Amino acid sequence: MAQQPPTSAGLADPALIQDLVAAYRILAQQGVLDGFGHVSARHNRAANRFIMSRSLAPELVTAADLIEFDLDGNAVDAKGRALYSERFIHAEIYRARSDVRAVVHNHAPSVIPFGVTNVPLRPMYHMASFIGSGVPVFDIRKLFGMTDMLVSDSAKARTLAQTLGDKTCVLMRGHGVAVVGPNIPYAVGRSIYLDLNAKIQAQAMALSGNVTYLDPQEAQKIMDAGENRGYERPWELWKAKAMAK
Ligand code: MN
Repeated sequence: MAQQPPTSAGLADPALIQDLVAAYRILAQQGVLDGFGHVSARHNRAANRFIMSRSLAPELVTAADLIEFDLDGNAVDAKGRALYSERFIHAEIYRARSDVRAVVHNHAPSVIPFGVTNVPLRPMYHMASFIGSGVPVFDIRKLFGMTDMLVSDSAKARTLAQTLGDKTCVLMRGHGVAVVGPNIPYAVGRSIYLDLNAKIQAQAMALSGNVTYLDPQEAQKIMDAGENRGYERPWELWKAKAMAK
């Protein structure tokens, strides 16, 4: 069935495009994304459109690779280029969460153990206050039985977004994680500090069974004070380094 492609919301803000390209490169350089994984941003002109790269290794992404999508995962104009099969993760999170304006999906090895054991990922230090209210785990097998593990359609992505709920990230059992934010620096910063927190938690647990985590009230106080100052300071550094290459 030939389907009419969705109409464009118009040209996105050049600053948004620039930040999105930087986000792909930053997360690759920080080792959060490798050849796989992706970042997206909600379109600044339309809440029902988002922007992400064509299917491409993150460190290679340029502005010319970015494509506009609707919330069913349809491209406005893919120009025949291959698309990420898991773009639905982004689409359904934007549909479910009006506060979210950027989404990262990654397979950081550090977070995988916390999706496949009964050990919850918890905040080890002040930089990870955004997980103070918990990190839910999505198990694709619960509703969809045996799959190839990919969230490659709207139905699977909808249950992932439901599992995310009002949290900042959701682990995906045997796969990776989805991280959200109110803008690109938040989603990128949270992805970087989630990776670091997972590494630190595994180290602490290897040293001792008696680990002191941030209390949920401490985490909330940090959030109330302005989570990591909006990541503005490291964002300028990460972006400058990523775009210098
Ligand atoms: Mn994936």
